[in-house]
Amino acid sequence: MEKRELTCIGCPMGCQLTVTMENGEVTGVTGNTCMKGDIYARKEVVNPTRIVTSTVKITDGDKERVSVKTASDIPKDKIFDVMKDIDAATAKAPVYIGDVLIENVAGTGVSVIATREIAKV
Ligand code: SF4
Repeated sequence: MEKRELTCIGCPMGCQLTVTMENGEVTGVTGNTCMKGDIYARKEVVNPTRIVTSTVKITDGDKERVSVKTASDIPKDKIFDVMKDIDAATAKAPVYIGDVLIENVAGTGVSVIATREIAKV
């Protein structure tokens, strides 16, 4: 039997979770105060994913950068590649919340979208 210790990132309580595994399959989760922790732990040990937030450079805008996030979770091991694509990207103002600034970022099939508005100057 294998054991993994995790800290739940579902809320600020940060419950300490213990996941027990047998032959790569989760057999139990303890330490969680709510079901969110159970779901997080099972996913984290088998297929860890994250939403990535960052900023993209803007041209012709009233700000130099716009805040962005991935439209959905991406595999955790792709975070570095996603950040590289975001760093290399430039968008032209105006930008509206929800605009797709990068499609299929780092080949993940996920878009990077704007999370604030930037006016054109
Ligand atoms: S298990 Fe529930 S209460 Fe505990 S940190 Fe996760 S989300 Fe918060």
